[in-house]
Amino acid sequence: MEKQQIHAIVENQKAYFDSGATKCVDVRIGYLKKIKEYIIKNESTIAAALKADLGKSAYESYLCEIAVVLAEVNYMLKNIRRLTKNKTVPTPFGQQLSHSYVRPTPYGTVLVMSPWNYPFMLTIPPVIDAVAAGNTCIVKTSAYSPNTSKLVKDMLESIFPQEYVSVITGGREENTYLLDEKFDYIFFTGSKNVGKLILRKAAENLTPVTLELGGKSPTIVDETASLRIAARRLVFGKGFNVGQTCVAPDYVYVHRSIKDKFLTLVKEEITRQFGDCLNNEYYGCIINDKHFERVCSLIDHSKVIHGGKSDPATRKIQMTVMDNVTWDDAVMKEEIFGPIIPVLTYDRLDDVIAEIKKRDKPLALYIFSSSKANIEKVHSSCSFGGGCINETDIHVITTAMGFGGVGESGMGQYHGKDGFDTFTHYTSIVDKKTWIDLGQRYQPYNKMNLWFSRNLNFGSTIHKTLKMDCNTLPNSFNELLGFYFRKK
Ligand code: NAD
Repeated sequence: MEKQQIHAIVENQKAYFDSGATKCVDVRIGYLKKIKEYIIKNESTIAAALKADLGKSAYESYLCEIAVVLAEVNYMLKNIRRLTKNKTVPTPFGQQLSHSYVRPTPYGTVLVMSPWNYPFMLTIPPVIDAVAAGNTCIVKTSAYSPNTSKLVKDMLESIFPQEYVSVITGGREENTYLLDEKFDYIFFTGSKNVGKLILRKAAENLTPVTLELGGKSPTIVDETASLRIAARRLVFGKGFNVGQTCVAPDYVYVHRSIKDKFLTLVKEEITRQFGDCLNNEYYGCIINDKHFERVCSLIDHSKVIHGGKSDPATRKIQMTVMDNVTWDDAVMKEEIFGPIIPVLTYDRLDDVIAEIKKRDKPLALYIFSSSKANIEKVHSSCSFGGGCINETDIHVITTAMGFGGVGESGMGQYHGKDGFDTFTHYTSIVDKKTWIDLGQRYQPYNKMNLWFSRNLNFGSTIHKTLKMDCNTLPNSFNELLGFYFRKK
């Protein structure tokens, strides 16, 4: 698409936003319902696009793409009226008589950029959140998942007018043209390197951003872990979408005393869950030849204890376990994003924590343990986006908690209320009454100004006299009177 065309779409969206058309909550609800209906009606078409791009099984497509999107739209439909209401907050005593409240306000025209690995689940939920919050939205999908990108475009363009939500496909040129535009918010999901570029471009216009990035997410298996469960859930978490998952367990630290037993169980689990990976129709493929070669190049065959084979024709790579891995190995130098499990051995948990803390803050961290002390030690020492205890991956699939990274793995969160908040500016308003106006704060100043300011503010003698908690200040004059008489 040409630069001028992209510019025209952005300008049209800005005009549409300014017309106020997206601010009516009933209108938003109407569009959210259409999204839901479309997904329910076209479940098999969505699954077919995901199969074509990533070889995803219908089960994985439903569990981690379709169901997650439906949960997000259901959450917004259920909660949008509550979320869009103004919220009254306490007014400090010195600002009486006033009504203080926060007003949820959409940013305006937002840009959502998504990756290829969960091309439906990482594109539609931010659109749902942006629309629920009252924004117009331009969506840029990844060129690496063309079938799902086309489906997303057909879907959103059949539901929304272009000035409300529009989808731009394409590659490098379109990305550059888009980032030259001034948006009111940018929501980006993808790699760290591109994330840095987005942040730099956003800084030129002081545009706020959410960055959902990736990195190397550790898994720790300690000597108290339930080993069979740990092996089963680790293999599941790594095998999902053949490791092309931002929160996939990237590498595993295993306590020396249980390592041999654990690795035997991991190998058994791989065979039990996937059988012959290269000929398993439910086992996905690597997205393209470039990534296939990159993942294959991370396998050091002298360290492979299971798997290691691949098929360039189908871009499938066996679930591979590498033992005796160190931080000097190629596989530990970058996010793997493929079905390789590097195993590192440890004796002291403190050493593992020190190694994790030396590096970028992970998007996810998993610990398999039955020791509360060990779990607490890891959680209180390490900074990471989110994670699970005795499980992998699943903390992402909920609307009750936010999802996002920290430090190098991202900034900002979404899903459920966090998603609505991401695309909302909460405007703080003090509505001051006009029927009374105490003159003590105005010039010319005298001793009374200081006396009033000392005594009518937080921690003042009046508050102390009334035994009022400064955090639960009364909200209005009537409340204050009620509070005073109750105290009496
Ligand atoms: P990517 O950064 O290459 O691409 C993401 C998006 O940015 C795509 O839409 C792409 O078209 C666009 N893009 C690529 N290069 C660009 C450039 N130079 N300028 C502007 N835009 C550009 O990421 P990817 O390969 O599609 O996805 C894999 C990465 O994403 C992994 O690092 C993974 O961990 C991360 N990821 C994070 C999450 C999360 O929720 N935190 C989810 C999925 C993937």
